[in-house]
Amino acid sequence: MGVGRFAPSPTGDAHPGTLLAGLLVWLDAKSRGDTVLLRLEDLDTTRAQGSHVDAILDAVGALGLRFDTVHTQSLDKARHHLALDNLAAAGLLYPCACSRSRVKALGRKAPDGGFAYDNVCRGRPLPEGGWRACGENVRARLPDEALRLYDESGLDLSQTPAAAMGDPIVLRRDGVVAYQLAVVVDDAAQGVTRVVRGRDIAPSTATQVMLQRLLGLPTPVYRHHFLLLEPRGDKLAKLHGSVGWRELSRKYDGAKLCGWLAHVAGLTQAPTPTTPDALVDAFDWSRVRGDDVTVRWNGHALEP
Ligand code: GLU
Repeated sequence: MGVGRFAPSPTGDAHPGTLLAGLLVWLDAKSRGDTVLLRLEDLDTTRAQGSHVDAILDAVGALGLRFDTVHTQSLDKARHHLALDNLAAAGLLYPCACSRSRVKALGRKAPDGGFAYDNVCRGRPLPEGGWRACGENVRARLPDEALRLYDESGLDLSQTPAAAMGDPIVLRRDGVVAYQLAVVVDDAAQGVTRVVRGRDIAPSTATQVMLQRLLGLPTPVYRHHFLLLEPRGDKLAKLHGSVGWRELSRKYDGAKLCGWLAHVAGLTQAPTPTTPDALVDAFDWSRVRGDDVTVRWNGHALEP
């Protein structure tokens, strides 16, 4: 039996885009008879808040998404630290003195919309005392190899991550273990076999697969789904700014939101209230739309 996971970061209110991911992860797992866990990715202590955790738990409960287990990532720091020890023992960690502005000034766009790092600090040694004693960001040296990689939907994720993105930060200078490392360590420790997530994270997959190889961890099956976008200025951004569950729940109960999400995803003919349980039997990825959809919150309703 496989294991799926929904891994939201409680760094803001629970947004429709986050809840869409939760619904698709849950339907993917339950339609296959897999177990599905909720992992609260709360390592970024500068942004994660208990009130956002409460909003996520409240929203998934209202939607009718029942998870087999709930994990709080910050309780698992010992295993992230062990992974850092293993990378250090293999001589793969180095301190990086480069500021964000230096990396930005290099001007090389990365596939995730950020800027690629040029690995210039490779070769700098960790201080005596190792990564624990390092007051700078710590990066992991990836092999300079190309990965040919497609996700289950056929999305081409091929990349030479060491060049396209640059070696990833695995430990921030403030001591927070970085997402790219924590996610691969926890997916493996929790036996995750299927990673279903939004397409915005797709460009990180090659980096994560390289880290899995360095740590001797298995690679799960990946599938990336469409995004809900909102107009922001003259651009489209991930639907994260305008409305969260606290405001939404004044107009939408869980069944109404579930019905709206299922309809936007292409799973139902009309946005009539429903439950995840009612959607499981007919769920099939071939029925889920492929293209992103722009959504507006008009203060009363979500308008696709
Ligand atoms: N915590 C990440 C986020 O909320 C998702 C991680 C993942 O699915 O790999 O964007």
